[in-house]
Amino acid sequence: MLLAVLTFLSCSNNSHKLRIVTLGISHESNTFATTFSRESEFIVSRGDDVLKGQLWADYLKNEGIEVIPTLHAGGWPGGVVERSAYEHFRKEILDGIRKAGRIDGIYMDMHGALHVEDYEDAQASLIKEIREIVGPDVLISGSFDLHGNPSDEFVRQIDILTAYRTAPHRDGDETRLRAVTLLCDALKDHLKPSIESVTIPILVPGEKSITEVLPLKDLYSKLPDISKAGGMMDASIFAGYCWADLPRSAMRVFVVARDKKYSSRAKDYAVDLAQQIWDARDKMVLDVPAGPIEEMINKASESGNKTVFISDSGDNTTAGAPGDNTQVLAALLEQGCKNALVAGIVDSEALNTCIGTGIGKSTRINLGGKVDSTFCEQVEIEVRVLFLSPDSIMETDRGLAVVETDGVKTVILKTRRSFTEKKDFREAGLNPMDFNIVVVKLGYLFPELRDMAQVHLMALTSGFCNLDIASLPYTRVQRPSYPIDREMTWNAE
Ligand SMILES: [Zn+2]
Repeated sequence: MLLAVLTFLSCSNNSHKLRIVTLGISHESNTFATTFSRESEFIVSRGDDVLKGQLWADYLKNEGIEVIPTLHAGGWPGGVVERSAYEHFRKEILDGIRKAGRIDGIYMDMHGALHVEDYEDAQASLIKEIREIVGPDVLISGSFDLHGNPSDEFVRQIDILTAYRTAPHRDGDETRLRAVTLLCDALKDHLKPSIESVTIPILVPGEKSITEVLPLKDLYSKLPDISKAGGMMDASIFAGYCWADLPRSAMRVFVVARDKKYSSRAKDYAVDLAQQIWDARDKMVLDVPAGPIEEMINKASESGNKTVFISDSGDNTTAGAPGDNTQVLAALLEQGCKNALVAGIVDSEALNTCIGTGIGKSTRINLGGKVDSTFCEQVEIEVRVLFLSPDSIMETDRGLAVVETDGVKTVILKTRRSFTEKKDFREAGLNPMDFNIVVVKLGYLFPELRDMAQVHLMALTSGFCNLDIASLPYTRVQRPSYPIDREMTWNAE
């Protein structure tokens, strides 16, 4: 009890109860995608709903801090966000901050790769508007996905920032908790933290910057020690988001010092780490066998009875692709594969045909290739309908059908999403381990699938998330950038 009272007093700044406003707009915006991300595609929470089941919110509550949540919006990665969606979110957040009265801190729950129609840098303009309301003294702390691309302009306005240290991501809750813990510590100790950073001219896809394998495994393992070093608060490596053709797309190191007087030390850590990342650039490679679709299907066929996951990497819906590319399905049918599953293809029109047909019956459909007509064609096939979501689910965005053609099962989805966990397959009445080949619209496998896959292969399909970075039609990224300008030289400073 005594400890609890002391903690309460320390975090209550002795004179008044600390008040923290929270907000969030999280989106990974693929500027190569041909469709916009719309407001209806975001999950929005407000008020007490924001705080439910959140470790960071429980922490603040236990510390006796008054939390004033505004709006938290999170969308599945997709095309650039529609201007009206962003402006609705922004208005609600700014109104919430204005109404909050006296506050001590702000917590921003962000992804970091948000890009909005007609805005050069919506994240920077949002935080500038927040500063205009709260002034320079209110501390702002933010948590980010390491695939974010926060700009200099944005970072100039924030006091503390921290990012995931794992990809595939296993530490989202931990990172958010760290952002609010650091904020609370800074308020308690009356700190004015200072952020030092080094931008590294590297464009790297998530599939080549996995933190569970070298070289990034070693480099990320240095972050906790730097964070604990004298005068330091936190350190982050942003792998960045390469499917955004924007000047701010790059890898980046951030080190947060407790105070300006430790800035040069923080800068030294950032420069040292950035140089090590640059020196390891050609070691950031795929951690699984990769190649053209046909080659990957042949390789999978040679794996005996093992369940082989094949990533349709060019149509990775977790990185913003449309999810209706048909290249892999067409190749499976062409090569006469049996006992294969494609999870899944987005096509609400084909789904409606399957609903009209009914379970156990057959129909002819033109599947996929409707949004992504750039990299693939519709596949005209005769399918037998094996499964339809119950009516209550079919009415929602999660409606789906499972169909079969010549031993290849395909999940037809109503809306764009990915199969990243076992429960996604269960919803379709499927167990991935029953198949020899499971095709997913991912790049790297998310933790549950990564842990269960007996073999993982990366099909280098063409699409809006092409893994061949140098072949993308970039016009706005900083040049030179590796690997577009493969022979460039660079030194961290
Ligand atoms: Zn990410």
